[in-house]
Amino acid sequence: MTEFAGGCLCGAVRYSVSGEPVRVAQCHCDDCRRATGSSFATNVFVRKEDLTVLRGTTKTYGHPADSGNTMTKEFCPECGSQLFGWSSRGPELRSIKVGSIDDASFVEPQIEVFVSRALPFTRHPETTKKFERMPPPPK
Ligand SMILES: [Zn+2]
Ligand SMILES: [Zn+2]
Repeated sequence: MTEFAGGCLCGAVRYSVSGEPVRVAQCHCDDCRRATGSSFATNVFVRKEDLTVLRGTTKTYGHPADSGNTMTKEFCPECGSQLFGWSSRGPELRSIKVGSIDDASFVEPQIEVFVSRALPFTRHPETTKKFERMPPPPK
């Protein structure tokens, strides 16, 4: 069983996860780019019940995705680090921003989504499945 921990830049929010990630997706959509401030987001999806916030309280921000679903992002209100997110289409899952994980060396991206919007300098691993949009959440 995979167990890992992580937190935000200032350390106010800490969390742990027990259980296997159900999906690891690199997302090249505009929303992920803006929210992370990076060229794309690597999202580690876990079951909601496997995620425990150990300390601190996140702030949430909800916005519509172009699919019509509502995306909710959770971040540290002190330092602004993006930590978690979920979609109204898959509220039983939480996506964890890979950069918040203490030791993310175990993470292997499986899929890439919104590849048509990827920045030209982005390299896509040959091992990932590519999608034009977000596929349905894993069971
Ligand atoms: Zn913080
Ligand atoms: Zn995205």
